[in-house]
Amino acid sequence: MIPFNKPSITGNELNYISQAIANGHLSGNGEFTKKCQHFFESKIGCYKALLTHSCTAALEMAAILANIQPGDEVIMPSYTFVSTANAFVLRGGIPVFVDIRPDTLNIDESKIEAAITPQTKAIIVVHYAGVSCEMDSIMDIAQRYQQIVIEDAAQGIASSYKNKPLGSMGDLATMSFHETKNVICGEGGALLINNPLLCDRAEIIWEKGTNRSQFFRGMVDKYTWVDIGSSYLPSEINAAFLWAQLEAAELITQKRKNIWQQYHQAFAELEFNGKLHRPFIPNECEHNAHIYYLLLPDLETRNFVIDYLKNFSIQAVFHYVPLHLSPAGKKYGRACKELPITDNVSDRLLRLPLWVDMTQEEIALVIKVVTDAVKV
Ligand SMILES: *Cc1c(COP(=O)(O)O)cnc(C)c1O
Repeated sequence: MIPFNKPSITGNELNYISQAIANGHLSGNGEFTKKCQHFFESKIGCYKALLTHSCTAALEMAAILANIQPGDEVIMPSYTFVSTANAFVLRGGIPVFVDIRPDTLNIDESKIEAAITPQTKAIIVVHYAGVSCEMDSIMDIAQRYQQIVIEDAAQGIASSYKNKPLGSMGDLATMSFHETKNVICGEGGALLINNPLLCDRAEIIWEKGTNRSQFFRGMVDKYTWVDIGSSYLPSEINAAFLWAQLEAAELITQKRKNIWQQYHQAFAELEFNGKLHRPFIPNECEHNAHIYYLLLPDLETRNFVIDYLKNFSIQAVFHYVPLHLSPAGKKYGRACKELPITDNVSDRLLRLPLWVDMTQEEIALVIKVVTDAVKV
């Protein structure tokens, strides 16, 4: 059996968890949380990083920080995970879905301006498969219309755009360490704050709406309820696990890229013969091999290939059901015009198994069976 994903362990996870236990501090914001946060602050260059128990939680914090009020509109792609939209809907915001580019499957920057109305409060971009959106154009639009930009960089660790790390360009950015991502801790995430004006409030929201962080720094003399907030911190056990993974982040990325590259070379001929499309990486983007996907000719071919692979015990999966076509998306959001690329891609995209410990035999088998299936 070749599963679609297998969480990979780097070796130091249990060791660091034991250290966290020995430290006698198991709730959040201890030594390992701080180590992880410093890692992002130094590697990504964000003003402040706050670990969260999921990327979903970090997106919810971002929606509060963007001050989304009932009726406010937020621009985002429809081709994304539900949390991108849900976090804003929870605050009464209305997702306005914009189509994606046919090459990177990221939000089409040329279609954002037409979606802006007087109610627009934020632009949410998703770096699909760890490949950056066209951030120069997006930041330019945001500046001209005075919009806050939030990068959903759930898939974007260790990727960059024009040498700038993903997560370093928007006012806020979010990351995920869910077990299906590149760097993991089971369930986990981070909020990255690039706009220093949002920093104090972010800490308060993170600490359940209290000024606990300021209190511990001696900046206020009592610790009290000052704003809305929730329980967003992960425990030190999760942070200890994550620290082991972050120390190995470069190695993880290298190993994933090696597998990604083997797939990419192997399917070049099928692309040349018009049987499928391979992922496209723009020159200015350094990616992290988060996903290897193929775009097959149509839904029937995709179903056929999935079943064909299943006969060889290979698990390949697809995503996303476009948000604008889903029951909650229709209820809470709206599509800005037609979204033909989103509709089309969601029927044709297939994700192949990709995890660090895949053996050469397993990689070769996936390549052979996919090739056979596509040629039938
Ligand atoms: C995985 C993912 C999320 C959610 O991450 P969690 O950590 O599971 O909450 C959000 N957005 C995108 C684009 C994702 O890929």
